[in-house]
Amino acid sequence: MSEGFLPYGRQTIEDDDVEAVARALRADYLTTGPTVAAFEDLFAEAVGAAHAVACSNGTATLHLAMMALDIGPGDVCIVPSITFLATASCAAYVGADVVFADVDPDTGLMTAETLSEALERAAGRRVRAVLPVHLRGEVCDLPALKALADGAGAVLVEDAPHALGGRYRFDDETGAVGDGRYGVMASFSFHPVKTIATGEGGMVTTNDGALAERLRQFRSHGMARPEGADPWIYEMIQPGFNYRLPDIACALGISQMGKLPRFAERRRRLAGLYGEALAPLAPLVTLPPPMPWSDPVLHLLCALIDFEAAGVSRREVMEGLSSRGIGSQVHYIPVHTQPYWRARNGAQSLPGADAWYARCLSLPLFPAMDDGDVERVVTALREVLRL
Ligand SMILES: *Cc1c(COP(=O)(O)O)cnc(C)c1O
Repeated sequence: MSEGFLPYGRQTIEDDDVEAVARALRADYLTTGPTVAAFEDLFAEAVGAAHAVACSNGTATLHLAMMALDIGPGDVCIVPSITFLATASCAAYVGADVVFADVDPDTGLMTAETLSEALERAAGRRVRAVLPVHLRGEVCDLPALKALADGAGAVLVEDAPHALGGRYRFDDETGAVGDGRYGVMASFSFHPVKTIATGEGGMVTTNDGALAERLRQFRSHGMARPEGADPWIYEMIQPGFNYRLPDIACALGISQMGKLPRFAERRRRLAGLYGEALAPLAPLVTLPPPMPWSDPVLHLLCALIDFEAAGVSRREVMEGLSSRGIGSQVHYIPVHTQPYWRARNGAQSLPGADAWYARCLSLPLFPAMDDGDVERVVTALREVLRL
């Protein structure tokens, strides 16, 4: 069991990661060099997608996905309310509107039912994209969501920063999150709390070569180099960005990808231990039920706590855990309640999102935790809940 403070998540950086970055620092290219393509190729191969485009962060990947789809004013994106701000902000960046979908109160995921209901609210408007979030790393019901999106003339863009390494089985179709079987694009983040870390960083995967080309173009100023043109020539079709990921970060990403199987196994083991250790605390403390089609690599261990029945507020629980050296976090505040979206969309009631938000608390989960740390967290939680 470790002695120090246990945050809810943290990176695992080992000596060979440090050496990989040191080598990158001594190489010819700090950015736009060959390590970028090497990381992209490795990542595409790992998730089973034809193309992967590295970006400066996960938020940038979502923005580029909107640009690549040419989404703009008058268009609507459907976003589950339980997610990080960026899933909805990317639509606002390009002038599109967001219709928030509710989520299942016990899993936090957008479902066929909640998407249908959101599509009804968006009826008559130009729905272009649906952005399912594989919250916690749990895989959404992709075939059902895709069928509904297809029916509405929209595509799925999977916001998958929680789900790297996760696999699914729908009927006879098995695959990995990000393989592009259901979503036209999937977005990942390498922020230090995510499954692999590059400091800041992100990746979009797609099987569509034209989309990959547009992602690459918008990643670097909207520039194209026409074939056969003079060597200094570049053309700007539309203003783009500098959303490139440096070779230094890509070297770290390559090193981290080699550890993904080990990280995944550790996360699975720790999640299993949490399941056993928390079971006696039901019904006051429960875990979201696993999805039958999914073999996830959980990024977040979200416990659902009935704070009212426990007679202890979430703030007291977080502070009590913190004083015992244990970090926790809330994933997430429903995005539709944020001042910006409330002002823009009007007040709205999404009872599933509210019910999830009222109970969720993420407990420490990261590969460097040892088995005893789970016991330490659960013991502290019992004390704080006076169980
Ligand atoms: C982390 C995260 C993002 C944004 O990624 P950054 O790399 O931090 O920009 C977007 N959506 C979800 C669901 C995330 O967890």
